[in-house]
Amino acid sequence: APSANGVDRGALAALLAAEQARYGDSRPLSSARAARNSKGGFSGGVPMHWMRDWPQPFPMVIEMAERNRLRDIDGNDIVDFCLGDTGAMFGHSPVPVMQAIRGQETRGLTFMLPSADADRVGALLQERFGLPCWQMAVTASDANRFAIRAARTATGRKRILVFDGCYHGTAEDTLVDLVDGKTIARRSLLGQVQDPSLTTVMIPFNDRAALASELAKKDIACVIAEPVMTNCGMILPEDGFWDYLRTETRKVGTLLLLDETHTISTGPGGYGRAHGLEPDLFVVGKPVAGGVPAAVWGMSQAVNDKLFAARPETEHGHSGIGTTLAGNALQLACMRATLEELMTPENYARMLAGAGQLDTGIKALIAQHRLPWHTARVGARLEIVFTPEPVKNAAEARAAQDAMLESTLHVALLNRGFLLTPFHNMMLVGPDTTQADIAAFLAAFGEVLNLLPLETA
Ligand code: PMP
Repeated sequence: APSANGVDRGALAALLAAEQARYGDSRPLSSARAARNSKGGFSGGVPMHWMRDWPQPFPMVIEMAERNRLRDIDGNDIVDFCLGDTGAMFGHSPVPVMQAIRGQETRGLTFMLPSADADRVGALLQERFGLPCWQMAVTASDANRFAIRAARTATGRKRILVFDGCYHGTAEDTLVDLVDGKTIARRSLLGQVQDPSLTTVMIPFNDRAALASELAKKDIACVIAEPVMTNCGMILPEDGFWDYLRTETRKVGTLLLLDETHTISTGPGGYGRAHGLEPDLFVVGKPVAGGVPAAVWGMSQAVNDKLFAARPETEHGHSGIGTTLAGNALQLACMRATLEELMTPENYARMLAGAGQLDTGIKALIAQHRLPWHTARVGARLEIVFTPEPVKNAAEARAAQDAMLESTLHVALLNRGFLLTPFHNMMLVGPDTTQADIAAFLAAFGEVLNLLPLETA
C-alpha cells in the first residue's frame, strides 16, 4: 500500500525482518546472554527496562567504549552517533575526565562538604551560562524538579506551562499529555497518584495565541522548555517565537526555565546563550560532567534571593531540593574537566563542522532518492524527519512518525556499523567523530536507501 513517506509497507516489513535476522546472526554471544538472562537478576535481564526498547531484537552487550566507538562482546565495532543519548556527547571515556577521576582516586568521592574544585566550577558555570547562582543535582530530571520548586517558591504561584511533546526527565510536574486541547496526566505513567494536570498546562509549541491566553491568567510560575524541542522529533522555534515568549512572560511575572540538556549541542553556552534568550532558570545535565552522573541548575539573583529568603523557617527540615550525592567531589572534578577541556570553542567548532558535513550529505541523499523527508539540526545534533517541510509542533511531528521505517533504518545502519539514537532518527557528532566516519556513514546510508522499497522513483 502507498504511504505518505514514500515507502511500501509490505516490502518494508520483509526488509526489517531480514535486517533483524542479520543483526542476530552477527551476535551469538549477546543473543545467548539475552536468552539466558531474561528471567534472572535484573528485570527482563537488563539494568534499566528501556534497554530492551531498541529496535534490535535483543540488546547487544557492550564490551568497551572509547571516543566515538563501541565494541560489543561479539567483536562488532560500531561508530557511535547516539553517544549515550547525549551523556557521552564529548566522547566515551574522554581523557580529561579520566584524568579527573584518577586525580580524585586518593582524595575521596563524597563528603557533604565542598571540595577544592567547587569555587572554580561555580565561576565557570556563571561565566559560561550567564546566570549568577547555581546548585547541583545528580540527574537532569532532578535539576528540573528542583528548578521548578525554585520557580514556584520565588513567584508564590503553583501552575507551570510546558509544550506538547516535551520531555524533561521524570520531573512529575512535566509529565502530561495534550489530548483534544486538554492537559491530562501522561497516559504512560506508572504508579502516578497525583494528577499533574491540576497544576500544569500543556500547549502546542510555537502557538502564540495559546501562550497568550494562559499567560493572561497571571498565575503561571514558569514556562519550562527546551529552546529547540528534541524529544518528539526535532521542532525548531519559528522566527520571533522566543522573543515573543520572553516579552510576554516578563509582562506577567512568569519565569522562563530553559532545559538545555540536549540543546547544549549548540555551543559552549547552549542555545539560549547563542540566541540571547535570557532565562531566569537554566538546567543542563547528561554530558556536563563527561558522562559521570551530574547536573546543574542556575538561577537569576532575584530567584535565588527569594528562594533562600523563604528557607530560614525550614532551615533544618527537608526542602525537597537536593540529594546526598549531589555536589560531591567526583562530580565537581569531572565537571571542571568537562567545562575547561571538553566544552571548548575548538571542540564545538569540530563538532559543528562535522554535523554540517553530515547534514549536507544526508540532504543530498534524500534529494537523490526523491524522498519526502528533511533534516532538522541544532548544532552538533541532527534529526531525519519523514516530512518534506519542517514541523512546527508535536502534533505534526507525531503525524510524521513511522515506527517500522525508523526501526528498519536503525537496524540496517547498525548492521553496517553505525548506531543512531533510539526512539527517533537522531544523530550526534562528537569531537572525535572524523570526516572519514561521516563519509563512511553516508555511504552506508546511501546503501540502505537503495534497499528501501521506494514508491517515489
Ligand atoms: N531534559 C531533557 C531535555 C532530556 O532530553 C532528558 C532525557 N532525555 C532529561 C532532561 C532527563 O535527563 P536524565 O534522564 O539524565 O535525568
